[in-house]
Parts: sequence; structure tokens; C-alpha cells
Amino acid sequence: MPRPRALSVPTGDDSEFDVVVVGAGITGAGVARDAALRGLRVCLVEQHDLGSGTTWGSSGMIHGGLRYIEYDWETTRVSCLDGGYIKRIAPHLLFPVVFLLPIYPDDPFGIEKKETALEVYDRFQPYKAGRPHVRLDAEEARRLEPGLRPGLVGAVTMDEWGVDSARLVALNAIGAREAGAEVRTYTEVTGVIREGRNVRGVRVRSRLSGAEETIRAKVVCNAAGPWAPRLCEMAGASLRLRPAKGVHLIYDRRISNCALGVEAVDGRDLLLVPHANQTILGTTDDDFYGDPEHLEVTEDEVEYILQAFERVLPSIRQHRIAHANAAIRPTLFGWRRYEDDLSREYEVFDHGARDGVPGLVSIAGGKMSMFRKMAEDTVDVVLRVLGRAYVPCTTHTTPLPGGEGVVDVTEVAGNFGLPLPVAQRLVARHGARAEALLGDAEPEDRRAVLCECEPVTRAELRHVVRSESVERLEDLYRRVRCTGGACLGMRCAWPAARLLGEERGWTARQVAGEVRDFLDARWLQRPSVVRGATAAQEQLYRGAVYALGEVADPPPAGAGEPAPLPGAAALAESRLLTAEH
Ligand SMILES: Cc1cc2nc3c(=O)[nH]c(=O)nc-3n(C[C@H](O)[C@H](O)[C@H](O)COP(=O)(O)OP(=O)(O)OC[C@H]3O[C@@H](n4cnc5c(N)ncnc54)[C@H](O)[C@@H]3O)c2cc1C
Repeated sequence: MPRPRALSVPTGDDSEFDVVVVGAGITGAGVARDAALRGLRVCLVEQHDLGSGTTWGSSGMIHGGLRYIEYDWETTRVSCLDGGYIKRIAPHLLFPVVFLLPIYPDDPFGIEKKETALEVYDRFQPYKAGRPHVRLDAEEARRLEPGLRPGLVGAVTMDEWGVDSARLVALNAIGAREAGAEVRTYTEVTGVIREGRNVRGVRVRSRLSGAEETIRAKVVCNAAGPWAPRLCEMAGASLRLRPAKGVHLIYDRRISNCALGVEAVDGRDLLLVPHANQTILGTTDDDFYGDPEHLEVTEDEVEYILQAFERVLPSIRQHRIAHANAAIRPTLFGWRRYEDDLSREYEVFDHGARDGVPGLVSIAGGKMSMFRKMAEDTVDVVLRVLGRAYVPCTTHTTPLPGGEGVVDVTEVAGNFGLPLPVAQRLVARHGARAEALLGDAEPEDRRAVLCECEPVTRAELRHVVRSESVERLEDLYRRVRCTGGACLGMRCAWPAARLLGEERGWTARQVAGEVRDFLDARWLQRPSVVRGATAAQEQLYRGAVYALGEVADPPPAGAGEPAPLPGAAALAESRLLTAEH
């Protein structure tokens, strides 16, 4: 249950912004930063946590998209170009992902045609500092990826960039705030205010405290992703999308050396991506008519993905799936095309000209890989609607927070006595600001690893809780990957919640409530990927983790850090979670 808590940055009803940006996915966070850097007074509002919508469910790739070349050339070109800029402004956040596209004798294209497509894609690689493809024979491919099914003709490689998508959103939001914007999470827009025909702001409700208020602004920028049509309706305007559901399976570790591209039973391309400490498999792409807030993953969707990968990586079912997630692509409307063939182009809508609703601007469609360019085009329109003189965009050269320079990880590890993997993960998230974070931390927090899977220190957790709009335990997964590892949060949920509670002044009952909500939400992501005895064992284990934690720190509050109960650690260490897939 959400706890009553004051909004992070109070704004009186009289405040007036130039633009209120609705939705802090990658699109809205990018728009807010761009607008603030161009001198506008900006308020960014998000109904949940930063980046918790579609962006959280993306494949985490900054890529041109090889398959778009066929029917969506401009999307490939813009994505590659923008990917190069994103690499330049956030060098610490992007990591290379080398794809292996294995070819078997029954491949409909064969290695020659596949290589020809790659030769075309090679023309875009320089935009994003990628290397040209390499053609491998079967033996070379199997040496790189020994788990591949025998019988290969060969393979071709393809360079792409991976990114922690939630972190990319957080850095844009922090960058926006540093440029003067106000950023509010757990703040839902419930209505659009109009005076005459003109849009004059939004009504909001805190999802933490229930408090309602008005945010006045000259322009409302609708960056609500799959929720964008709903926001338009609130203002009396219209916007039509063709939303599509995409499902991923997330493994709690890396299960291959390279990323793989495979074909599904219906001929669609699926990807396996070793992504930081995890592996991501996906994705489906199906028309979606429901509520983007309530998404479920079905066993059929899981089976569709596993079936495709099993043909190429026969051991796939032996690995343990940590969870499955679903997200809705806010694709522009199109008729007479399969979901997969829909353009990933984007459009900025000035609803003044389009629907007679002056002051409402929407941005829809696109991809994360070109969010910067989408934001640039949107802010150009916002400036026009405001009647302001053109101010050039600088987001292609202004570093995102932490992107100000390149850091020597070994030096950071040495200076602060950190194990190298801890320093590596810290620098990957905070870049040039990692040393300042450690310098500002309490000495006892610097090396205290709280989440062992990722790994994350207490120093980093305190830093993000204090400065990156973290309100709930689940936000820590998005912000720094805490609770996202092999233990699925079973070992770190309690200590992380206690640290969050310490910072927020929560009672022990509030801490326990947070852990319970977290464990319940995690469990809801499991049924489609665990079955039978494993599911029962996990249920039991979840209950035990919750109960032992609560017994160790019972309400009412007042006690310090509780001593672990005898037997609790042994239970937490036990191997009850066995793989069935
Ligand atoms: C399965 C899948 C995989 C993908 N993989 C990739 C990839 O690898 N690379 C790539 O470039 N692109 C990828 N995409 C596309 C990319 O993820 C999306 O284009 C992008 O994340 C959309 O971001 P957004 O900010 O527009 O939407 P969202 O991330 O959904 O953000 C919209 C936000 O608005 C908020 N909101 C809605 N209504 C309100 C309201 N009333 N008040 C306040 N807030 C509100 C929501 O909570 C949400 O956080 C993928 C998409 C899917 C579905």
C-alpha cells in the first residue's frame, strides 16, 4: 500500500511553467531535458517511477534495427545517427553487444543474402561507431558460441550497443533537473485544464499521498507513450496509435558469449542479448487492445520464445528464467500491415492546428534509439506553440550526468578499496560522477555491498535514494539494479527496504509493508515462467523470507538494525529455487 508522503518538490497552484511534460519514459525525460536546456521552465510528471512504462520493458538496445532497412530505411538511418550521439553524451552507459546471426541449411535467406543485408547495414555503422560485419564459417561460429546446434552453414556478426534503459531515463531526468526542471514521480495527470479553447495546465494526483493539485503551464506536452491517446481525450483532442504488446524473458545471468538473432516459428526475428549481468530473450509483437497498466505474460508467449531459441541453442530450457515482462509499443497507427511491419517512425502533433486544442503537443511512435532526435523535434514545436524565438538544441553535445569524462575503473577501485566488479558496475551507472559519489559517502557505506548479485553498495543506494527520486523499493531495481539478480531480491529486499526506510523516516511497519508489496509484485511476474513443485517451493520461500524478516524487525519501530534470526541465513542460502526450464 502506498504510504502518505509529501510530494518531493511542492508546487503551489500559482506556479506557472512554460511546459508540463506528461510521462517520464525515455521520450518525456528526453523532452524535459532538451526543453530545460533551451531555457524553458519545465515540469516533468510521471504517474509511477521514472522509466517504468514501455521503456522499462524494452530490449535495452540502441540500434538501427537491421530488419527496418527493408521497409523503414529512415528509421534505421535516424536511429543509427542518434545512437552515435547517445554514445557521445553517455559513454559510460552504453556497452558493446556483438550479435552472431547463425545460418542453418534451412534458413530461408541463406548466408549470401544475409551477408548482403549486413553489407547494406555496414553503411550505417560509422554513424554509431560500430564495426562492419564479419562472415564466419561454421567452426569459427561454434568456437565463439559452443552452445549452438550443430549443422551450421556459418554465421555473420553485427555490432550494436546495449543500454540500461531505465538508467538512460534517470540520467535524462536528472539532467533536466540540473538544467532547472522540476521532476515529480508518482504524480498522475488526471485532467487537462482548458481556459476557453486553450490548454492551461494539468490536474494531478499524488499516487503516494492522494493529494491533488493543479500545475499551470502554457503548453502540455503529451509524452505518455501507450497512454498518449488517453491524455489527448482528457484535453478533447484525439490521437490514434496501433499499440503492440512485446514480451521478454529475463535470465538472471549471462547464458551465452554473444548476442544471437534467431527466427521464430512464424518467421519473425527474435533476439537473445547478454545484457550487463542478465540475458534478455524476446520479443513478441502482437496487437494490443487492453490497458497498458495491466499486462500479463501468458504461457503461450513464453513457449513461443523458448521454441524459437531451442532450435539454435538446445540447452535454453535448462537455464532459470528470473522473470518475464511485457510492454506496449506506442506505434503510430497503420492499417493493412502486420504488427512487425509497422513503421517505427515518430510524429509530433500540434493539436492546436490539428484538433483546435491550442497548447497541446503530443509526441508518439519512434524508438528509444532515437529519443534524442524525437525530443529535439518536439521542443522545436513547443517553442513555436509558445511563440518563442528559436533556440538551438544542444543535447547532441551536452553530456548526460556522468558522461562528462571517461573514468579509469581500476583507479576508482584502488582509491576506495573496492573490489573491481563493484567499481565497474558503479562506474557503468554513474560514469565520471562515481568518485564524487564515493567521496561524499560515509566511510562505512563505501564498501558495504548490500545487493551481492549486482553488486550494489550502501553508499550508492543512499546516493540514489537522496538524489534520484527513489520512492519505493522497486524503484531501486530500475535505478541501480538492486534486487534484480539471481536471488530475485530475496537476500536484499529487507536490507534495501530498511535503508530506504532510514532515509525516509519510515516506521518498521511501513518497511514491512514495502517488502510485502515488493515480494507480491515479484511473484506476479513468476507464474508464467515457473510451474509445479518449483512454483510451490517459491511461494513457501517467499513467505519465509517475508516472515523471518518481519520477525527480525517487528513493528513498532525503534530498534536499530535487527540481528538475523538463527536459521534465517541458512534458509536464504538454501537451493529451493530449482530450474524447470
Ligand atoms: C518489447 C519491446 C522492446 C523494445 N526494444 C527496443 C529496443 O531495444 N531499442 C529501442 O530503441 N526501442 C525499443 N522499443 C521501443 C521503445 O521501448 C519505445 O519506443 C520507448 O520506450 C517508448 O518510450 P515512451 O517514453 O514514449 O513511453 P513510456 O516508456 O511508456 O513512457 C510513457 C510514460 O508516461 C507515463 N504516463 C502515462 N499516463 C500518465 C499520466 N496520466 N500521468 C502521468 N504519467 C503518465 C507512464 O507511466 C509512462 O512511464 C521496444 C519496445 C517494446 C515494447
